[in-house]
Amino acid sequence: MNWPEWRSSGPWPGAGVSMMEAWGGPVDPSAQLVLGIDLGGTKTAFGYVDRAGLCHARAAIPTDSALPAAQFFGRLHEQAAALWSNLAGEHELAGIGMAAPDVNGLTCAIEHPTNLKWETVDLRAELGRYYQVPIAAANDANAVAVGELRFGAGRGMRDFIVITLGTGLGSGIVANGELVLGADGKAGELGHLPVAERSGRECGCGLLGCLETYASATGITRTATELLAQRRAPSALRAIPFDRLTSLVLFEQARAGDPLALEAFEITGRILGAKLADLALVTRPEAFILFGGLAGAGELLFNPTRRALEENLPPFYRGRTQLLASGIPGADAAILGAGAMAWDHLGKRENARPSTEVKSRPDLPVLNVLQP
Ligand SMILES: [Zn+2]
Repeated sequence: MNWPEWRSSGPWPGAGVSMMEAWGGPVDPSAQLVLGIDLGGTKTAFGYVDRAGLCHARAAIPTDSALPAAQFFGRLHEQAAALWSNLAGEHELAGIGMAAPDVNGLTCAIEHPTNLKWETVDLRAELGRYYQVPIAAANDANAVAVGELRFGAGRGMRDFIVITLGTGLGSGIVANGELVLGADGKAGELGHLPVAERSGRECGCGLLGCLETYASATGITRTATELLAQRRAPSALRAIPFDRLTSLVLFEQARAGDPLALEAFEITGRILGAKLADLALVTRPEAFILFGGLAGAGELLFNPTRRALEENLPPFYRGRTQLLASGIPGADAAILGAGAMAWDHLGKRENARPSTEVKSRPDLPVLNVLQP
């Protein structure tokens, strides 16, 4: 490991003096932290995460993408440095992981984001102005998948798919223990698979019938609204103003036994489960891990989803794919996902370094190993 290259730098207290220099030797790996950053449309949360998935300090700033990206990264660094000042004495910054919308996982650039006013932002270049540590980045759902792999319900598994159920539906596919990035670094857009044929609800992506228009917090609300128009059955939902009808209200009413709210969960789970069955045939995952606000509905959503997953699989594939809730602590989940990206990246760099133990074999051609 090339320690000086990993040393944190920047205009914060203690900048330029690594613990290695202060102590005259490499630091205790347990003293290393990574900076996990979750860049969202309105807010950016960040914190320092250790190898075990513990977040040592956290803070947040407004994203404000109406201003140039360079200004945002200046503000972010200023606040992250202030937070670091309490940790610097006992810790070393080993790397940075960033979760952001529309990130190309191969180039670590945000490309034409839908919910940010920037065009293309090279995250390694922006962060590289302030930090000289390895940097990894992924879109939000992919970062959550790496978070589950390292710290959550995916620990010990090599093949699973994370589905994030928020305003939309995001996903991250882990196959053979690796996040699937695809040829353009943007794999895992399961939210835009069609529920059946391309008809039905309009999606923000320009297509009809996308999964996320049904299986998401927004989707279940649309379903409930349709049910209220189609059915005459009495329902407590009828007394709730249209703009207050959220997935949380539906959850509360379903728990109280309201038949239309229960039906909305049943329909959502049925549609989600049927699509998960399709996906189960593609990569044969050990599990689907449901993450995010709507997944908090628990068995109200999991039961119909699990049933539809099983019913839509060929008999010889049934009973082999688990449906699990996220195992990452909710409050810090996005920061931990971003932190997991950094740890994952550091691990790969470590593994990619040629071992000094390897003896050259005259009978084999010499290969040049490219360093990432
Ligand atoms: Zn779509």
